[in-house]
Amino acid sequence: MSEIATTTREGDLAKIRRQVESEKARLDQELAQLAGVPTNGGGREAPFHEHPTEHAGEMEEHERLLAIRENLHQMYEQCDDALGRLERGEYGLCRSCGTEIAIERLRALPYATRCVPCKEAKRD
Ligand SMILES: [Zn+2]
Repeated sequence: MSEIATTTREGDLAKIRRQVESEKARLDQELAQLAGVPTNGGGREAPFHEHPTEHAGEMEEHERLLAIRENLHQMYEQCDDALGRLERGEYGLCRSCGTEIAIERLRALPYATRCVPCKEAKRD
C-alpha cells in the first residue's frame, strides 16, 4: 500500500468515526426517551387481574416499544463496538480473516465486522 492510499483510508475512517459518534449520541437520546418503558424481565406470566381483552391494545403497544428499544439498543451496541475497534485500531479489519474491509463497504455499513467474501460464506 502506498502512503497516499493509507492516508485516504485513515481520512475515511475519521469521517466514519464522527458519523458513528453522532449516531451513538442520537441513539442515546432515543433510548433515554424510552427509558420509562418497563422491561418484562423475560417473565411470560404477567398477571391479568381484570379482563385480558381490555388490555390487549396496551400490551401490543408495550411490546412494540420494547421491540423498538431492543432494536435501538442493538444499534447502540454496534456503534459502541465500532468505536471500541476504532480505538484499538482493529476497525475495518475482517473479524474472520483479518483482511481490510473495503472502505466502500464501511462507508455503506459502518458497523460491518466482516469482509464481503466472509459475509457471503457466513464464516465466523
Ligand atoms: Zn474476511
